[in-house]
Amino acid sequence: MFHPPRCPFVDCDRHRHPEPSFYTRHGYYRAQCRAHPIPRFRCRACERTFSRQTFHSSYRDQKPHLNSSVLNLLCSGIGFRQTARVLKLTPNNLVAKARKISRHVARLDQNLKDRVALLDEAAPSVAPLELQMDEFETYESRRNTRPISIPVVIDPVSRFRFAAIPAPIRPRGTMTIARIAAIAEEERRYGPRQDLSAEACIAAFQAAADTRPAASTVIVGTDCKTTYPGFIAKVFSGRKVYHQQTASVRSRGAGTPLFAINHTEAILRDHVGRLRRNSWLVSKKQQYLDLHLRLINGFRNWLRPRFNTDTRTPAQIAGFATRPLKMAELLGWRQDWAALSPSPFTPICALH
Ligand SMILES: [Zn+2]
Repeated sequence: MFHPPRCPFVDCDRHRHPEPSFYTRHGYYRAQCRAHPIPRFRCRACERTFSRQTFHSSYRDQKPHLNSSVLNLLCSGIGFRQTARVLKLTPNNLVAKARKISRHVARLDQNLKDRVALLDEAAPSVAPLELQMDEFETYESRRNTRPISIPVVIDPVSRFRFAAIPAPIRPRGTMTIARIAAIAEEERRYGPRQDLSAEACIAAFQAAADTRPAASTVIVGTDCKTTYPGFIAKVFSGRKVYHQQTASVRSRGAGTPLFAINHTEAILRDHVGRLRRNSWLVSKKQQYLDLHLRLINGFRNWLRPRFNTDTRTPAQIAGFATRPLKMAELLGWRQDWAALSPSPFTPICALH
C-alpha cells in the first residue's frame, strides 16, 4: 500500500512538514501503459490532488516501459540514433527521454552521495579517502577547434566514481594551416575559447572531499602535471594528504600505479559512444556530454557490480551501500527534492 510521504507541491507547507494524515484518498485512475489502477490523493492543506505516479521518476512519461532499455543502451556504447531505431522511438523522443532519465540518475547519485556524507560526519570512518585522478580529452562538435578535457576522480579500490566533469580547453597540439584558419575563424565569431579545466579539476576533487567530509587522511594518485599539487592543497586543506605522482609516459598496463584510473577511462571511452575515438558519435554540446557522464557514473556506482567477476557494486565495496540497487529502484522515486527525495534503499512502497 502506497502512503504519500509528503505533499508533492514544493510551495505547500506539507511538502517540508508532512503530518501523518495530511492527505485523503481521492479515487483511482487507469493509465494505458499500466495494468493496475493508480491511486489518487488530495492534500488537506493546499487541496490539490496528486497520484502515486507523481512521486515516480517516470511521471508524465510516454512509454515508461522503455526507460530501462534506454538507460542500458546508452551505457553500452550505442549512439542515440541507433538506440532510437532499436526501440522504435523517433530521435527527438529518444533525446527527450535520455535527458530526463540522465537528469534523474544524476540527482539520485548526488542525493545518495549527500546521504553518505551525512553518515560520515555523524560516525567518522578511520579509513583514509583514497583517490586517483586523471584528465582525458574529447571535443564538442569540431575536433579541430573545440577540445574538451574531462577530469575523472575515482576510488582506485572500489572504482567508485566521484566525478567526471567536462570543461572546454583551448586548441593545442599539431597545427596545420587549415586548423589555424579554422581556429581563427571560430575566434572571430565567438571570441577566444575559454579554458575552464582548472575549475573542473578542483570541482572533481571537491566532489570526493564532500562525500567523505570527516576523512582526515587523503591518499591521491595523479600524473606529474604541475598544477595538481595546488588544486589538492586547496581542496583538502586541513587534512593529512599523501600525493603520489607517477610520470604518465610509463607503461599503463595492469599493476602500474595509475592502472585503476586508466582502466576507468578506457571503460568510459568504450561505454559512452560519443567518447570513442574516430567515431560518428560526437557530442554537439558539452552540457549533454556532462549529462551522459552523470548517467553512466550513477549506473556504475550503485547498480552494476565493479567487475564481471564481482557481486558487489563500487558503492558497496566503498562502504556507501549495503546492497546493489535494482533497475526499478534506480529509475524509481523522483529525486528532484534533494534530501527530501525518497531514498531507493528504504522504499516508501513496492515499485511498479
Ligand atoms: Zn499540499
